[in-house]
Amino acid sequence: MSESTLTQEEKDLFRDNFRKFIAKELAPHYEAWEKAEIFPREVWNKLGENGYLCVDVPEEYGGFGADFGLSAIIAEELGRANLGALCTSVSVHSDIVAPYIFHLGTEAQKQAWLPKMVSGEAVGAIAMTEPGAGSDLQGMRTTALLDGNQYVINGQKTFITNGQHCDLVVLAAKTDPSAGARGVTLFTVDCSLPGFNRGRNLEKMGLHSGDTSEMFLDNLRVDEDQVLGGVGRGFANLMNELPRERLILGIGAIGACDGMMEATANYVKERRAFSQPISAFQNTRFKMAELKTQLEVNRAFIQVCTEKYNRGQLSATEASMAKLSTTELQGKVADECLQLFGGYGYMQEYPLARAYVDARIQRIYGGTSEIMKEIIARELLGR
Ligand SMILES: Cc1cc2nc3c(=O)[nH]c(=O)nc-3n(C[C@H](O)[C@H](O)[C@H](O)COP(=O)(O)OP(=O)(O)OC[C@H]3O[C@@H](n4cnc5c(N)ncnc54)[C@H](O)[C@@H]3O)c2cc1C
Repeated sequence: MSESTLTQEEKDLFRDNFRKFIAKELAPHYEAWEKAEIFPREVWNKLGENGYLCVDVPEEYGGFGADFGLSAIIAEELGRANLGALCTSVSVHSDIVAPYIFHLGTEAQKQAWLPKMVSGEAVGAIAMTEPGAGSDLQGMRTTALLDGNQYVINGQKTFITNGQHCDLVVLAAKTDPSAGARGVTLFTVDCSLPGFNRGRNLEKMGLHSGDTSEMFLDNLRVDEDQVLGGVGRGFANLMNELPRERLILGIGAIGACDGMMEATANYVKERRAFSQPISAFQNTRFKMAELKTQLEVNRAFIQVCTEKYNRGQLSATEASMAKLSTTELQGKVADECLQLFGGYGYMQEYPLARAYVDARIQRIYGGTSEIMKEIIARELLGR
């Protein structure tokens, strides 16, 4: 959100410190959180107290005012450590919700939420998807109708990351149901308001410790000044903010690939069959060489996209390419690496089992791979 003032050395130090934080505060407890199907609320406070939330929010709102590069390090390292649910939750909070508030919010909205999001006192979520509207958000049915100086919101959302822990939701609703895309407006919604009801914590095939929920909005009243980014501007604003969302998912994917490749390289050097290490088989060597090559090609593109984002030049098409390519690669790396672990890859106590199921959602949320291809093709071929 602001120009970088940090040197490479300072960024390396930040990465090193965050790795130590993960090793001490997160990784040892993660398995228990996965079993409990939710990580504790205090994790947010701990991340905030140690300076790992919303790092590029300017100092006047409690952040470091660092560039996006530091946020990228956080997503990459959480991915690398195989903490997929935390990677998703933190990315939604720091790289999706906070930028919406910072770029679109009034001064009062920024002051109300950003310092608390930096400290972990408030957890952010974004609620677009509904049971009948995912890829095609224009089909959303949640309405926000003006009554005096308040909007009355009714409807239902689903699949909302941070849905149990959140204190703030950036919520999309139709303020003019007859106006199509131009009828959608974003709101900042305080989750303590009457009429805001959390549904259950949904059971997922992966990302077990992350909370993903339904939300029910039942005559929820919000003041007019909780409109975020202008009445009827919801879709346009969404389009402007999506590149960062897609880029951060791509960065998490690169980190996850690094983690899987490291774990697999170690395993195949140790495991033996036919009187030799698995790593001596040509199949293993070629597979690993191919994956590593694709990983470095993808990393190079992500670096270009990150630099472009920092300069305010990342296009929707480039961000879609970044998400498409890296998350498809993540799925491939998970599958090929699991194969190299043999039966142990399928066991929960080995890292590939979790990495494999956590990878699967990356091709779906934040826009499916098919929608990414549509966006890319549109620039190439027109509508
Ligand atoms: C764990 C998890 C976390 C999530 N977090 C959030 C969140 O925090 N906030 C939020 O708002 N949403 C969230 N989502 C929702 C997610 O963004 C949607 O699931 C996703 O956008 C796909 O929508 P859908 O599930 O309705 O699938 P659908 O839109 O029904 O798609 C079904 C299939 O049809 C394909 N398809 C659809 N349209 C086209 C087309 N035009 N051309 C070709 N193929 C097409 C899709 O690619 C897909 O393969 C989350 C989902 C999950 C599972």
